[in-house]
Amino acid sequence: MALIVHKYGGTSMGSTERIKNVARRVAKWHDAGHQIIVVPSAMSGETNRLIGLAKEVMGQPDPRELDMIAATGEQVSVGLLSMALLAIGKKAISYAGWQVPIKTDSAFNKARIQSIDDVKVRRDLDAGKIVIIAGFQGVDVDGNIATLGRGGSDTSAVAIAVAMQALECLIFTDVDGVYTTDPRVVPEARRLKTVTFEEMLELASLGSKVLQIRSVEFAGNYRMPTRVLSSLTDPMIPLEIEANSGTLISFEEDTHMEQAVISGIAFSRDEAKITVLAVPDKPGIAYQILGPIADANIEVDMIIQNQSVEGKTDFTFTVLRNDHAKAMDVLNKSVKAHIGAASIVGDTKVSKVSVVGVGMRSHVGIASQMFRTLSEEGINIQMISTSEIKISVLIDEKYMELAVRALHKTFNLENA
Ligand code: ASP
Ligand code: MG
Repeated sequence: MALIVHKYGGTSMGSTERIKNVARRVAKWHDAGHQIIVVPSAMSGETNRLIGLAKEVMGQPDPRELDMIAATGEQVSVGLLSMALLAIGKKAISYAGWQVPIKTDSAFNKARIQSIDDVKVRRDLDAGKIVIIAGFQGVDVDGNIATLGRGGSDTSAVAIAVAMQALECLIFTDVDGVYTTDPRVVPEARRLKTVTFEEMLELASLGSKVLQIRSVEFAGNYRMPTRVLSSLTDPMIPLEIEANSGTLISFEEDTHMEQAVISGIAFSRDEAKITVLAVPDKPGIAYQILGPIADANIEVDMIIQNQSVEGKTDFTFTVLRNDHAKAMDVLNKSVKAHIGAASIVGDTKVSKVSVVGVGMRSHVGIASQMFRTLSEEGINIQMISTSEIKISVLIDEKYMELAVRALHKTFNLENA
């Protein structure tokens, strides 16, 4: 017998029919002798609908009141799922975040979990009940409802698994795992049986939107084994098969020894590049350029400063495409004249492609293999950045899919 947390996403909870299927799947795990906590999302589309209502009433919704509204989607889900379990003869009880309580800070719309009380939940589990806890929400020190940001139920589930010292956190979703790359771009993309949490962090932040990034950080920091698997299979598939399906986010790098050096190719279409031309090459310039960008709450990703010629240099960085216009505006208004730059040029037609793998730590030549592949395809590299387990390049957006396909082949990901 083990304590296991199940998380079901919006698609899995998308209709009362699907909720009944979730109940059958959960009951199957409970019948096998496990203690089960379930953390569901709101029914698909519901959170968007609620936020839409708020915006109809107040253009820029008040953050506290917005959470009051947005959190109700999950409250409906837990009640329905609990009833679906009761209806098939299981013992079940549902809780909103504040009832557990799941305590958060007061950063409405993007709150962070601070602590989770396990007393009630343990008592219920010991009484043979399946406990269903609303994802995405908690309560602050003043009793206000606070939500964790879009996709936050993943983080709720992993945090609850950590607090309850569960054996594993199973994230049931509408895909059957984490792939070597997006199968819509490379049909030969393969599901990974395991991926280390560091790789998952890179893959998640680079645009493979399977899990909320903070849930992966939680899993990594507390070493909670977390598995991404399909909720769209027959709910009665044998438990032993289901328990080994999907992708396990692991911590054991040695499980990777026999595997490919590269685990996946990530990409992001939504990049933009900004170059500040001919700035003086002296202390403080990078700060004077990026300080106002940070103050405007714009996230910067890749950065390059070129070698200087006659005391002048070019400074290039990337931002998300959505932030491009705002960043250009900040630079033109308050930076350009101030630092004496010749001009500022922007390019919104760029994409980022990254190869990710912990195997890079012990293998040399990955970068040259990557660059050779791109050169053979005639793709120009505009910027490069690296970490211990990742190499990213910025390229013209029109070559992005070509680059991903070529790299997937070069690193032999279809048959690793
Ligand atoms: N319902 C929330 C959202 O759509 C939280 C979640 O689904 O994880 O963002
Ligand atoms: Mg989600």
